Amino acid sequence: MIRLRPRYRVSHYTRLTAEALQRMGAKALVCDIDNTLAAHDVGTADSTVCAWLESLHQAGIPVAVVSNNGPQRVELFNASLGLPCLPKAGKPKPRAYLNACRLLNSDPATTAFLGDQLFTDMAGANRAGLISVLTEPLPFPEPFFIRLKRKAEAPFLWAWAKKGH
Ligand SMILES: [Mg+2]
Repeated sequence: MIRLRPRYRVSHYTRLTAEALQRMGAKALVCDIDNTLAAHDVGTADSTVCAWLESLHQAGIPVAVVSNNGPQRVELFNASLGLPCLPKAGKPKPRAYLNACRLLNSDPATTAFLGDQLFTDMAGANRAGLISVLTEPLPFPEPFFIRLKRKAEAPFLWAWAKKGH
């Protein structure tokens, strides 16, 4: 059974504050990169990402990044951050989620996963037993392939919205 439905939803990663994470019962955070923390065509982490990560660090919440993208993209993004990172993660397979938890020394049940896609990010996070948090994707332009996937996601999001989630 593939569970696509996120446990929580936010409109932007900055909404996932230390307080919000604590309310969700999360003590650590694993993040997708593309369209979650950086637009697809943006290589490096901007000052908003850095400030947000710093606030989590201050609150004692460790963060790792996990991406299906290759090491070049991931290392460029992570260069100024120095976070534990897993490129070519193979989401939605649970392996990378669990490895990220191991790197953070955290229990999957008290680790949140933040991502923008249902079929990869949320499906894998749910399967690996993390606290799944869906964010709205950062502004376009997105590659054609991802735009297609958004169309496939739409009926699920619509149905949940109707049920008040
Ligand atoms: Mg993404």
